[in-house]
Amino acid sequence: MHEGFSAEQELFRRSVRDFAAREVAPVAAELDERGEFPMALFRRCGQLGYFGLRYPEAAGGGGGDFTTFCLMVEELARGSLALAAAVSMQCLMGTDFIYRFGSSDHHQRLLAPALRGEKIGAIAMTEPDFGSDLGGLTTRAERSGDDWLLTGRKMWITSATVADFFTVAAKTDPAAGFKGIDMFLVERGAPGLQVGRRIDKLGVRASETSELILEGVRVPADNLLGTPGSGFKNLGAILAEIRTMTGALALGLAEAALAASLQYARERVQFGRPIAAFQAIQHKIAHMATQLEAARGLVQRAAARIDAGRADMRLAAMAKLFASEMANQAADECTRIFGSYGFALEYPAQRFFRDARFLLYGGGTNEILKNVIAKDLGV
Ligand SMILES: Cc1cc2nc3c(=O)[nH]c(=O)nc-3n(C[C@H](O)[C@H](O)[C@H](O)COP(=O)(O)OP(=O)(O)OC[C@H]3O[C@@H](n4cnc5c(N)ncnc54)[C@H](O)[C@@H]3O)c2cc1C
Repeated sequence: MHEGFSAEQELFRRSVRDFAAREVAPVAAELDERGEFPMALFRRCGQLGYFGLRYPEAAGGGGGDFTTFCLMVEELARGSLALAAAVSMQCLMGTDFIYRFGSSDHHQRLLAPALRGEKIGAIAMTEPDFGSDLGGLTTRAERSGDDWLLTGRKMWITSATVADFFTVAAKTDPAAGFKGIDMFLVERGAPGLQVGRRIDKLGVRASETSELILEGVRVPADNLLGTPGSGFKNLGAILAEIRTMTGALALGLAEAALAASLQYARERVQFGRPIAAFQAIQHKIAHMATQLEAARGLVQRAAARIDAGRADMRLAAMAKLFASEMANQAADECTRIFGSYGFALEYPAQRFFRDARFLLYGGGTNEILKNVIAKDLGV
């Protein structure tokens, strides 16, 4: 048992690990090649109760704590980072605003089926010209009687191609900076809403991303999620979770890279010995394993603070920063251990290498996270 986990958490971790090993890892290469949303596996995750894990039972969730949620994310990412990215989006950013601020009608029609995996939720904040600089976003929400009219263009929206509903960030008061940003619920099929170009990506290819275009999309007043002007503040309330969760995704990817490296190093024979007998390879593996444990410690501590009701933005930023860089190094070393076979598409090392890049940007770029950490330290 890992230090700090209850027997129940270990049992749950094992069940997700078994699922990922039996049903996800064997098809990960095929999912990557097809580059299509993994609908069948996504629905399976719904049946297994993963989407509702961090929501209370009263909302149709599993009532799990954030540490347990991170275990689930980590184990799924071991099987396929693309599937884990799509699943974790649905568990957190894709549904959280509706859970916290949606009406009972939204809960019944959208949240409850989303937690069962029968509907899909997405979050649309990034724009073609505004990524890290979210305060500059230009999507507008203007009053029209009791309704709101949304106009703008979004970019990089995970699962937009298949989503049933979107949480869309828009400016209600362009003069008010961050305080002029709100989140709106927009349902698929709303007149003026169009899913645009699908982005062909280097990695996490089965987690589809695309543009989203809003041309005078009319939504009722009820669809403003939260009190007016609170969109950015409400995003801040889950930012530590988003970043810690991204750290957990990185742990899973690194574990997959380490396991593949170990197996290959034991099997590949050169100069009459398995390459695992060479100190150069042993040191790579020792370094990967050590860095992974260090990252795990940070992610667990950040998750524990969230569970204790003391979400720590600095620690969460450190966890995501360290774990994502660690996963990229692990994937890099894995391709080196595989030699030229690390360059071959039929081996998994290159997929880990490509997929790991996503972790550098998801949950905020690592440059921005360093800004957050430095600011918190008073510089
Ligand atoms: C696979 C994938 C899925 C995504 N899914 C979603 C989604 O579902 N919904 C959504 O809204 N967004 C999503 N995104 C978008 C993602 O959140 C943004 O791409 C990310 O925030 C970075 O924005 P950007 O790409 O515009 O980079 P930019 O902000 O343009 O940054 C470019 C470079 O400049 C650096 N930089 C920028 N500002 C500073 C600064 N002040 N100090 C130092 N360095 C700086 C950055 O770190 C980066 O290196 C997704 C992205 C990817 C790759």
